[in-house]
Amino acid sequence: MEAAEKRHNAQCSNRDYDFFYEGLVDRKILIQQCAACEKLRQPPEPMCPHCHSLEWKTKAMAGSGKIYSYVVHRHPPLPGFEMPHPVGLIELDEGVRVVAALDPIPIDQIKIGMPVTAEFFQRDNVAMVRFRRA
Ligand code: ZN
Repeated sequence: MEAAEKRHNAQCSNRDYDFFYEGLVDRKILIQQCAACEKLRQPPEPMCPHCHSLEWKTKAMAGSGKIYSYVVHRHPPLPGFEMPHPVGLIELDEGVRVVAALDPIPIDQIKIGMPVTAEFFQRDNVAMVRFRRA
């Protein structure tokens, strides 16, 4: 964990999510995967809900999916973000859902079910992922 803390901004993370933010530094979306039954789980948790194993690894996602749902954040202002700020719940092709910014898509064009693809970028020196139209 020490190496992870040096490579990503710990303000965005906690011990459960360090691997996720560490993956973003390498431009990867890493999702927790049970080492016993191989099922993916998101958000991260210590025990597999399917087989109760405590052993896990990570798997890199392809970075494509569709918009399952979204909200438009209008207030309060978020430092480093333009307002209003669209935030999506993205269903990845692998079947898990992640929360990420949709700011590359004009708000009036965002649609449930829209195919999207991951875009890795830096915001205030923090490695992040957002999604744009595929
Ligand atoms: Zn399992």
